Amino acid sequence: MASIGFPWLRPLWQQVLSAAAGQRLPHAIGLHYNQDLGIDSFLNQLAAYLLCNSVSKQASIGASPLKKACGTCKSCLLWQAGTHPDYLRIEPEQGKQIGVDLVREIAHKVQQTASQGGNKVVQIIAADRMTPQAANALLKTLEEPPENTYFQIAAVRYTQLLPTIRSRLLSYPVPQPSITEIAAWLKQHAGIDVADTLLLERAQSAPLQVLAELQANEQSEQLLARLCRGEFTVPKELESVQQQLKIVLKELQLAHRETLQGRIPAVLSANVRNLAALTTVSKALENAYRSGIHILRTVQNAGVNPQILIAAWSADVVRSLNVAAVKKG
Ligand SMILES: [Zn+2]
Repeated sequence: MASIGFPWLRPLWQQVLSAAAGQRLPHAIGLHYNQDLGIDSFLNQLAAYLLCNSVSKQASIGASPLKKACGTCKSCLLWQAGTHPDYLRIEPEQGKQIGVDLVREIAHKVQQTASQGGNKVVQIIAADRMTPQAANALLKTLEEPPENTYFQIAAVRYTQLLPTIRSRLLSYPVPQPSITEIAAWLKQHAGIDVADTLLLERAQSAPLQVLAELQANEQSEQLLARLCRGEFTVPKELESVQQQLKIVLKELQLAHRETLQGRIPAVLSANVRNLAALTTVSKALENAYRSGIHILRTVQNAGVNPQILIAAWSADVVRSLNVAAVKKG
């Protein structure tokens, strides 16, 4: 499963692939819809696979099956363009349910022959949010499945699906990564060794969310590093200026807190080698924070040029940190 960067989903992919190769893939599968585990990528990779002309050609002549969609046939190109006519996806709008009309429309469409002559794929996302009428309409379609049509029914709360619908689906449990797997994956994508057990445990059930948080942290730390090097510049739009200032101020506050706990913040480890300078560095960070807060309040005033103001502040921060770093505390 080279194209999906989620190692924990590989066993699931293998399972589905070998079922497909042996013509045993049922026409309706059910999955727990956990976006945080990368299930969307999985469903899409499977849809592309089932639609791919090369895959079906291999299957029809009994040749050894492809491991994924070829990516170059007409069907794959339509898929990549997001315009494949034999692929249908339903998902509820924010805060709404999936209504019966939508399900009936799908039921009607799948009765027609596939326009690309291959399979048809129907994804129903958050299927647990179908109205009772919609669920009954889906049940009817599943009871008499049209030819060459594959349904992927993904539900956030799987047990909330009608039992009669569940009994029509082959459900595939979505595997969670092991602790070692998740640590290696985070290292690969966020570039850091995560040692925090609680964070790793949370990442086991929500890897994508934890990765996003780590990447956001990383970016915030880089903003602070730029400030300490005198390279902190801000974009033109006032909203972005305020947003970046807020991030860098929060990082300043965290760095200040670290000095109070007797540690040299990582961002200053190159400048401050001597713990004796910690008190003066701590003071400099506190001052930088205070003047930064003042700037945050000032930038929205008319007639103020945030870029000039922030450049002066940044230069000031560098100067006082340099002075503080060489002083004995
Ligand atoms: Zn293809």
